[in-house]
Amino acid sequence: MAIECLVLGAGQEVGKSCAVVSIGGKKIMFDCGMHMGHLDHRRYPDFSLISKSGDFNNALTCIIITHFHLDHVGALAYFTEVCGYNGPIYMTYPTKALAPLMLEDYRKVMVDRRGEEEQFTSENIMNCMKKVTAVDLKQTVQVDKDLQIRAYYAGHVLGAAMFYAKVGDSAIVYTGDYNMTPDRHLGAAQIDRLQLDLLITESTYATTIRDSKYAREREFLKAVHKCVAGGGKVLIPTFALGRAQELCILLDDYWERMNLKIPIYFSAGLTIQANMYYKMLIGWTSQKVKDSYATQNAFDFKHVCSFDRSLINAPGPCVLFATPGMISGGFSLEVFKQWAPSEINLITLPGYCVAGTIGHKLMSGKPTKIYVDKDTQVDVRCQIHQLSFSPHTDAKGIMDLVKFLSPKHVILVHGEKPKMATLKGRIQSELQIPCYDPANNDTVHIPSTQLVKIDATETFILNSLNPNFECLKRSSHSESKSTNTDLLPLKQRKEEPVAKGILIMDKTKRAKAVHHDELLPILGVEEHTIQFAYCFSVNVDSLLLIKPDKHSIELSEASASSPITESGGPSNTLSQSTDSSSTKNELPFSDKHSSLHLLFLKLSNDLVGPKIQEFPDHLQLESFHVSICRGNNCPYKIKEFSDGNSIVSFCCKWSLADEKLAWRVISVMNDLESLTVHEL
Ligand SMILES: [Zn+2]
Ligand SMILES: [Zn+2]
Repeated sequence: MAIECLVLGAGQEVGKSCAVVSIGGKKIMFDCGMHMGHLDHRRYPDFSLISKSGDFNNALTCIIITHFHLDHVGALAYFTEVCGYNGPIYMTYPTKALAPLMLEDYRKVMVDRRGEEEQFTSENIMNCMKKVTAVDLKQTVQVDKDLQIRAYYAGHVLGAAMFYAKVGDSAIVYTGDYNMTPDRHLGAAQIDRLQLDLLITESTYATTIRDSKYAREREFLKAVHKCVAGGGKVLIPTFALGRAQELCILLDDYWERMNLKIPIYFSAGLTIQANMYYKMLIGWTSQKVKDSYATQNAFDFKHVCSFDRSLINAPGPCVLFATPGMISGGFSLEVFKQWAPSEINLITLPGYCVAGTIGHKLMSGKPTKIYVDKDTQVDVRCQIHQLSFSPHTDAKGIMDLVKFLSPKHVILVHGEKPKMATLKGRIQSELQIPCYDPANNDTVHIPSTQLVKIDATETFILNSLNPNFECLKRSSHSESKSTNTDLLPLKQRKEEPVAKGILIMDKTKRAKAVHHDELLPILGVEEHTIQFAYCFSVNVDSLLLIKPDKHSIELSEASASSPITESGGPSNTLSQSTDSSSTKNELPFSDKHSSLHLLFLKLSNDLVGPKIQEFPDHLQLESFHVSICRGNNCPYKIKEFSDGNSIVSFCCKWSLADEKLAWRVISVMNDLESLTVHEL
């Protein structure tokens, strides 16, 4: 079951997050964001790529929104109310509470202040939110009988969640934006160790490693304090929710400690309203905020009051939080125009500004003049401070998450192209996980593993439970024959796969794993073993050259003193001995002279390691078996000496498992040929 991911936004850029994932016949849209840097058709994802006919209800199984930021939820009301999507939508409770505030704020900025064509109305926003199903963290939601989803805490902003989705045996996680370290008001992202085919992760700070947060916070406070001490005004353009609250906790606390009386303002009623939500949703904030909640609510700011438009040009220092962030329009732009020309003022920008916004222009070099629209130019003489802390994870956090989850594949979104390429390289080389960084409107095809349920026999399971089953059986079996273990590479056998068997499919088309011993009875066939054979003639005169070893001195001498012709020749090869208990040292006289026995002595002497066993009519080592060839028409015969009666043919047989051993023995036997009687 392959997975497909169509990236409709945030592909090699930040803005309009939207990924449509096809998994097991289901199609899930993760996030439905808008791009803050564009006002043309690029503002929204190209929904026509999901369905040309515009039948989104049939094309999509559900929509999942990770958090309330506009680059993740900004196109939702447009998609449901204007494009007509009516299917299920999921987000966390805080996101459901806060997303309409963000959408309404954006609508107002666009329509009421900039006089733009209305994309969606306040009523559209309300109707859109009615279609949303709110979910709790770690609550498993059954979207339909096949699709399961679950939200995990992502930090980042209040209510932000990573989403897990599972269909059959395929599973993925889409992170949305997340933070791997806690900040002033939110905890760090938390997720279970899940089995994943695919992880789609943000990569805003794909190459940044951050140092201590404390130092970065001090830097911000120092810059603000210096400005107000010099009588300047500080503009902090922020989104209404998230960053504003974090910075407020920081400033309020500092004001208290430093006993400062300079006013801190929040621009419109929106932020005040948002703070109210924060207070209500205290359960979703950090442990520190939760712990101190009983004695002091971190969101009850002592020094913060609301701002009035008439205060823009009032004399004296102040700090102002104004929406929207990145100075993409609205009130923050209005204040920017007034305050930027004075060098005693300060503008503090968040760590990340989307390309196309004034915030982005201010951060890329220090421009002296900025065109805010084609008719209006602003002289920028104020100081610019860039916040170096951000609610996004840094590169280490992304690597830590990828390592922790160890998915089979990773897709990077929500980042800048060159930085993503660097991170992709690291994920592939350091973690050996295939990684992709698709551009907008690209589709990534992910092969996925499909698990098939099979039956298994008891023997197979027992064998699987004991990884050394075969090895133990084999070694005990061989010990009865020989004490030599050189032939059994035991260590190697121990490393064999744990579950080893044969997969068969019976008439009912059901697959079954069986142990290989069971296969033949199940199939109802007899065992055929392949045996190798080799028959060749040897001049047995040379056997007299055997150097006596310790236990066969006597025997060798005896052999040497007897004319070899007496025992040579096929007619003498059948052993006369009836005493099967004969030992090496006390063989019956007749056997001492048989060529087979001479061969036994030769092999016992020359073979390093394994010891060959002697039987009345053959010699044996494991499955290797040698006897005197009795047939003139032996089909295995390789070559024959023509001269004399001291020629004897040895017929060898062995099975595949002992092939190497067999050729070792045969090579010793072949040596016999190179010796002649004359060398005596
Ligand atoms: Zn975000
Ligand atoms: Zn984002």
